[in-house]
Amino acid sequence: MTRRYPDPAAPGERVALFPGSFNPFTIGHLDILERGLAIFDRVIIVVGCNRNKPSADAENALEAIRRLTAGIPRADAMIWDGLTADAAKLTGARFLLRGARSAADFEYERNMADVNAMISPGLETVILPARPSLAPLSSSMVRELSSFGYDVTQFLPSEKTSD
Ligand code: ADP
Repeated sequence: MTRRYPDPAAPGERVALFPGSFNPFTIGHLDILERGLAIFDRVIIVVGCNRNKPSADAENALEAIRRLTAGIPRADAMIWDGLTADAAKLTGARFLLRGARSAADFEYERNMADVNAMISPGLETVILPARPSLAPLSSSMVRELSSFGYDVTQFLPSEKTSD
């Protein structure tokens, strides 16, 4: 399949990648995206996909993210099945954006940040603390509730209808 990638960073443009599974993309992710856009010139959401598995989940996530962020200028999205550090090289992004909902999340994120800085010197990770009201929210929780037939609409960004 041919993949489209966002425009590479222009000289001096501060581009951050926001990598994750986004299965599904929640209002917690949207909050990190919007806060990231207050810091960076452009944020590219990178939907991770595993080389050894069918990529249908990632393709669906990408499609939903494109729809849900269509009205947000400076937000881009792409799918990637390699190292995030290589996606950063491809796009010229010098920053990674991540969220941390808890101390456990933060330890994990810090470790990832250290590894990414080791394999790609100069690649900085910015970890934003989750907004307290959204800290309990995770994609896996949304999937779980949904599997029991619970209406999870309140946890998902609303569709903007164009007029
Ligand atoms: P991953 O599989 O890489 O953890 P996720 O899609 O679950 O990917 O999450 C992507 C990023 O968004 C992670 O940094 C995660 O901590 C953050 N995140 C997820 N849910 C929330 C939330 N409710 N508030 C803030 N950050 C969040």
